[in-house]
Amino acid sequence: MNIATLLETSALTSSDSAAISTPGEVVLTYSAFHARAARLAAGLAASGFAPGDRVALAMSNCTQYYEIMFGAWMAGLCVAPMNPRLHVKEFAFAVADSGARLCFATPEIAPALAAELGGACRVIETDSTDFEALFSNPPAPMADVAGDAPAWLFYTSGTTGKPKGAVLTHRNLKAMVVSFLADSGTCIEDNILHLAPLSHASGMLGLAYIARGRNNVVLPSLAKDGLETALHRFAPLSFFAVPTVVRRLMEPALLDPALVPAIRRIFFGGAPMYVEDLKRAAAHFGTARLWQLYGQGEAPCTISFMPPHLIEAALTAGDDKRLGSVGIARSGVALRIVSEGGAPCPAGAVGEVAVKGDVVMAGYWGRDDATRAAIRDGWLHTGDLGFMDEGGYLTLVDRSKDMIISGGSNIYPREIEEVLLLHSAIAECSIIGVPDAEWGEVPVAFVVPLGVSGSARPDRAALDALCLDHLARYKRPRDYVFVDELPKSSYGKILKSVLRESWAARG
Ligand code: AMP
Repeated sequence: MNIATLLETSALTSSDSAAISTPGEVVLTYSAFHARAARLAAGLAASGFAPGDRVALAMSNCTQYYEIMFGAWMAGLCVAPMNPRLHVKEFAFAVADSGARLCFATPEIAPALAAELGGACRVIETDSTDFEALFSNPPAPMADVAGDAPAWLFYTSGTTGKPKGAVLTHRNLKAMVVSFLADSGTCIEDNILHLAPLSHASGMLGLAYIARGRNNVVLPSLAKDGLETALHRFAPLSFFAVPTVVRRLMEPALLDPALVPAIRRIFFGGAPMYVEDLKRAAAHFGTARLWQLYGQGEAPCTISFMPPHLIEAALTAGDDKRLGSVGIARSGVALRIVSEGGAPCPAGAVGEVAVKGDVVMAGYWGRDDATRAAIRDGWLHTGDLGFMDEGGYLTLVDRSKDMIISGGSNIYPREIEEVLLLHSAIAECSIIGVPDAEWGEVPVAFVVPLGVSGSARPDRAALDALCLDHLARYKRPRDYVFVDELPKSSYGKILKSVLRESWAARG
């Protein structure tokens, strides 16, 4: 089953409906989208690409994104979408790792990437005549591919060593779409706004909207004018956003609060949503708009979820524990917590989150060792630590590599971060473990005060008192570093590795 059949069906059911749009206008209807993808498939085949070949995408959000993806799939090729804000050497690494001989790139990336890659891989700029020339052949019939053929190489962020390509098959993507349609209760009458990179979760969720024949509105960058134009023009709109972007969207400087009714759903995930931030988001956007998802590239977007009515129930009950959870297992996904030896843990015990289901990747591209370490007995070991309560709600405590071991006791940064955010003068914070001669490791807090004036800065004694009010003494940060902002990846994740480096550099 080729995942591109989603588009074929929508071209029949919704031929004249808007498929791909800029914030202000429709660019392709479903019949035009389908025709372009089928022509591109023919162009790729005529250029010597055969089923199984990889095509890399070094592209910021643009309206050509999905026609390239679907064109490649129709030709039986596998796409390797890369984070558009990577360094040119990082692009080159992923291109070489994937073995792609062709890379589509948006104009701001293409020249430097072509220079870096030399003759090893052809770079085609999306706004060029070379690009349009690929559409000059008559449409090709869809390649017949097996369900377990690679469709999407998802390059991990590589926080531990070089990035790895999680091999997502056509079956994986179908399982993700079906689970989303089953669980989300949306994409029936709303459209999706891609304000986050299409190379990541936003691009994944868009596949479900394509399956439903809905409009994909592509925002080139997160800016007030495009955002508001799209909400005026194409409401009701839903979108994926990481928690830090959800917070930014509460600022009138980015989004006029009067436009909130034009939003149908905010699918948030990709990083922790702290309880205080979730309460603020619920008050600002209304709980009915909030839908949390937890997933990772290896099980794309689809491990657990917390839909609006469950968020509402936790809020009404004043149940902050559930509010801080990532909800329950997604449809078609088996979820459990396992000990280091792989045995299932009882309710309440912290262990590694393990996942099984059709959504779990086939493995890492060319990395059998890493695949064997991650997938054992059919269970994907996510590297996330968490526990499940009696009701099946999963709470993540941290990535296993971020856990701090102090004097033999485990400290989960997330629980300290949740407490610090109770302080009204803290906008953001992040806890890391730093080496300590006596305890092995101790926690240190990086804190972004609210506002810029010194008077707003919370004093250390007050922060200590707050921590001691809520946490065991050994979990109190040994130092507070006040910063103007936290380092984040272009996907919006806080880069604890950079915080560790900056701590080390302080000597
Ligand atoms: P990526 O593979 O880049 O999508 O990153 C996946 C990782 O992000 C997961 O393994 C988690 O550590 C984290 N993550 C994803 N969704 C959530 C969520 N809803 N809450 C907390 N962490 C999350």
